[in-house]
Amino acid sequence: MSLSENIQAAGVVGSGGAGFPSHVKAQSKVDYVIANGAECEPLLHKDLELLIKEPEAVIKGLKLMMQSTGATKGIIGVKRKYEERLKTLVSALKDQDVQLHWLGDFYPTGDEYILVYETTKRLIPPQGIPLDVGVVVNNVETLRNISLADRKIPVTSKYITVAGAVKHPSTFSVPIGLRYDDAIAAAGGATVPEYAVFVSGIMMGKLESDMTRPITKTCAGLVVLPTDHRLIQRKSLPVESMHRIGKSACDQCSYCTEFCPRYLLGYDVQPHKVMRSLGFTATGEQVWNQWAQLCCSCGLCTLYACPEDLYPKEACDKAKFDLKSAGMKWNGNREVEVHPIYDGRHVPLKQLMGKLGITEFDVPAHFQEKEFSPRQVRLPLLQHVGEPAIPVVKKGQRVKKGEVIAEPAANKLGARIHASIGGTVVAVGLEIIIEQ
Ligand code: SF4
Ligand code: SF4
Repeated sequence: MSLSENIQAAGVVGSGGAGFPSHVKAQSKVDYVIANGAECEPLLHKDLELLIKEPEAVIKGLKLMMQSTGATKGIIGVKRKYEERLKTLVSALKDQDVQLHWLGDFYPTGDEYILVYETTKRLIPPQGIPLDVGVVVNNVETLRNISLADRKIPVTSKYITVAGAVKHPSTFSVPIGLRYDDAIAAAGGATVPEYAVFVSGIMMGKLESDMTRPITKTCAGLVVLPTDHRLIQRKSLPVESMHRIGKSACDQCSYCTEFCPRYLLGYDVQPHKVMRSLGFTATGEQVWNQWAQLCCSCGLCTLYACPEDLYPKEACDKAKFDLKSAGMKWNGNREVEVHPIYDGRHVPLKQLMGKLGITEFDVPAHFQEKEFSPRQVRLPLLQHVGEPAIPVVKKGQRVKKGEVIAEPAANKLGARIHASIGGTVVAVGLEIIIEQ
């Protein structure tokens, strides 16, 4: 079987959050394969811990992808501040045709446009993908999963960090489908009576208060915060209220644009102009919406730049949704020229965490070896980009760990799902629930 077939059989998808089925990338032809170990979401360290624990598996996955795509250059992008902790990775790379690229400690270094520029000096065209400039980018955990897929081992576990208001912030390898409350218990439990979690990060993740939800193939971790924390209060505001406040309070200072990493990299993203769309309807709105089209939803404008605590990122999300619904594509400037102050206006992680009010939670989250034996796992049929997988098991059926329980829909983009524990299938719906 080819690498692409092995990856497909093992159900590998982008582990960094995107969830794009990895077998498709393995079929492309490129110059570079880049391993994304930038991990710029505050408090999450699962990629760092993985690189410390399994450096050989990441390198193997990267080399397999290089062979498959014909790439002659392989690069692992990681933060220089972790140089000391990544000594094993550094020595494993001696005499290899893979290089390390040390990244600065700013947000969002993990954005593909920024990572590709930082590591290769190539600029992805507006609304393009790395493939357009001869590059494939994979998260480091995806590459580890690809090395396992090559040995016919399917994806049944996930590296996650459990951070924030928990007794022992830690990184674990957990069965996919593990409930949030079980993951939080493994980190010693919450230190506050009332809390919610940011799933996969504060900047780009989702706020969740239902602790029975499961860890999926794309989850990078859980950041537990008390419910009265300002970030939870801000994120809980209904989106209509965010827009209403923005419409009346935005003074067009343009700080949101001045700090926008995509704008600084040379793309025509101007969130302050998108804010003007909130005051218009129909055709007037679309004129301003176009300035959102190249936004990557990094959240820096809403959570760091805006002195009025408004929501330009959410205005950009709405604008992008409206433009997509209207079938409109980018027709603005296709020239990309890095802004002269790009290097001078990076937002350091420490400064960002200070603004977010989470500095007290900025502690290491070392990997803890732990056997998880959950009573129940919940495996959503859609944990990837594409169509939901189709169940191939029935209620009451016994399954073994690693057995296929759902297949991609015929001729559609999707990914296989495997049982992450052995047990009995107790429900088959939008998710498959297995109990021991
Ligand atoms: S930073 Fe805030 S107030 Fe200033 S233009 Fe942007 S949204 Fe408006
Ligand atoms: S979320 Fe804001 S800062 Fe981030 S890319 Fe979009 S407009 Fe720029």
